[in-house]
Amino acid sequence: MTPRKNPVSRQIAFYGKGGIGKSMVAANLSAVLAGRGRSVLQVGCDPKADSCKALLGGRKVANVLELLKTRSADSLAAKDFLHEGFAGVHCIEAGGPEPGIGCAGRGIILAIDVMTKTGVYARGYDYVIYDVLGDVVCGGFAVPIREGYADRVYLVVSGEFLSLYAANNIMKAIHRHAQRSATRLAGIVANLTGAPRERPIVTAFAAAYGLEVLEFLPRDPAVQDSENHGMSVIERHPDSPIGKRLAALARKIETRTTAIVPKPLDDSSLNALVLRAARS
Ligand code: ADP
Ligand code: MG
Repeated sequence: MTPRKNPVSRQIAFYGKGGIGKSMVAANLSAVLAGRGRSVLQVGCDPKADSCKALLGGRKVANVLELLKTRSADSLAAKDFLHEGFAGVHCIEAGGPEPGIGCAGRGIILAIDVMTKTGVYARGYDYVIYDVLGDVVCGGFAVPIREGYADRVYLVVSGEFLSLYAANNIMKAIHRHAQRSATRLAGIVANLTGAPRERPIVTAFAAAYGLEVLEFLPRDPAVQDSENHGMSVIERHPDSPIGKRLAALARKIETRTTAIVPKPLDDSSLNALVLRAARS
């Protein structure tokens, strides 16, 4: 197994299909943990570079890949790409290439490299939270798993088949690299869309890997309103239904120590599982 690369206490990665709610969950977790006095670094690993917006007053900030267009990696200092947000959360966006050219995951590889060189990891955060697009677990997107940067992966899913399909692909990546990487699956978070039979479907999906769903997050207009104001739900609507569930989720992530190597499903078993749960 590869040795630990840095003195960070806990390294968490949220993976899931695009648009499923990873950044919403990641930013609110960061907000809760920082509010409890933990030092937190959130690393946006989606080419959209919008992971930390809700922690930064709605601002989009300079991302690593963008900076590297005009500057060399050796000339960068942490202050160039590290931004302080709500409750003192440190935020970094890896960024992505221009559409149509380059590998979308390259931003992550370069961001991790620059973070290492500029001593960001050496600061020894209590939590580093990676927010990673999980539609394709190739190249850079697999690095937090393949290279063991994330100890624990949380999958954000809904009851929709494609989100479960993407989550199962991430299980495959964890499983494949488990011999040499310390990355383990720690839980499944349901971000509900209102699709029919969603709870039983996500419950059955989690049970197939021997897990319970860590939290069911409701669809809630508080999310949109907070986003429109450039804030996390924890900052703007902490007492909303989803605000309470997000705080509960953060407590579970802090206290529970589940860490498994999941046994991925083949495509037909995944299909059959969803059909069964949708009917029962
Ligand atoms: P991802 O990071 O996975 O691409 P986001 O966190 O950006 O997804 O969420 C996608 C969109 O869905 C955002 O506009 C967000 O505000 C909205 N959203 C996510 N979860 C909820 C929810 N539980 N209730 C209402 N809107 C939500
Ligand atoms: Mg996102």
